[in-house]
Amino acid sequence: ATPAAIMAGTGVAARHGVLIKDAEALELAQRVAVIAFDKTGTLTVGKPRLVGFEAIGIDEARALALTAAVERGSDHPLAQALVAAFDANEAARRVALPSASQVRAVAGRGVEANVDGRTYFVGNARWLAELGIEPPSEVAARANQWETAGNTVSWLIAAATPSEPAAVRALIAFGDTVKPNARDAVERLAARGVKSVLVTGDNHGAAASVAATLGIDEYHAQVLPEDKARVVQELKARTNGVVAMAGDGINDAPALAAADIGIALASGTDVAMHAAGVTLMRGDPALVADAIDISRRTYRKIQ
Ligand code: ADP
Ligand code: MG
Repeated sequence: ATPAAIMAGTGVAARHGVLIKDAEALELAQRVAVIAFDKTGTLTVGKPRLVGFEAIGIDEARALALTAAVERGSDHPLAQALVAAFDANEAARRVALPSASQVRAVAGRGVEANVDGRTYFVGNARWLAELGIEPPSEVAARANQWETAGNTVSWLIAAATPSEPAAVRALIAFGDTVKPNARDAVERLAARGVKSVLVTGDNHGAAASVAATLGIDEYHAQVLPEDKARVVQELKARTNGVVAMAGDGINDAPALAAADIGIALASGTDVAMHAAGVTLMRGDPALVADAIDISRRTYRKIQ
């Protein structure tokens, strides 16, 4: 394309809310064959709500209070959902607990903290397995049921002490909703021959449910933050064409950088935007399809 056509193309894109870094990014965008999408916050609203809570072997109000005490130290969206549910629960608020200390986030797993003299973990099934804990079979069955229904599932775990082994104390389910334009964006991309792939740290059930809702055939679940870039590399190795990655989180920055072209949602973090050739001014998945359309139109003009 001529410099004038490129300037016109990036100008049209900017008016739509799509910032294209340079001529190279615009040229790559028109040749995209596969887009790997982050799930949470990119295709879903990213504001989970607590939809299930089951105490195991302890009083429910105490289990919720313990979980909230741990989560108060975390800035994860799941932590905010849990703290909101605690604040709205009178019985849990009546439980007297000292605030947590030694709070530590563990990537791809959850958060740990000391509450009332014991260490607690709030995190996913991977962490549970790593700690060598087997939940009672009826609770494991419920966890399975909640995941299959598309929920994110986490556990409250009491760490081992000199006198007691580690044990599960609560099973927790969170629900998120798909963004209104997500299905339409995936369909528009498919109509142009662009394949969408879902990449998430969440469980298989939640990933499968969002993929089915959006008409996405390929998903990768339980991907650790450091492995998202590896999934993108694999897609590049088996794709005959340009591979893009769209995401919003700090977690996504290495994958955005690993892709031929990164697409960052401006609602996300600065780190993600720095790693991207395309920045979307609104967290609207329709803008991903707009970006592809505008770049293709720019190049078709001069062919
Ligand atoms: P993603 O944001 O892509 O879902 P994360 O690596 O942040 O991935 O989290 C992976 C999983 O670990 C979550 O789906 C959840 O089950 C669990 N998890 C992480 N942080 C927390 C937390 N603060 N509270 C509860 N569960 C958590
Ligand atoms: Mg995200």
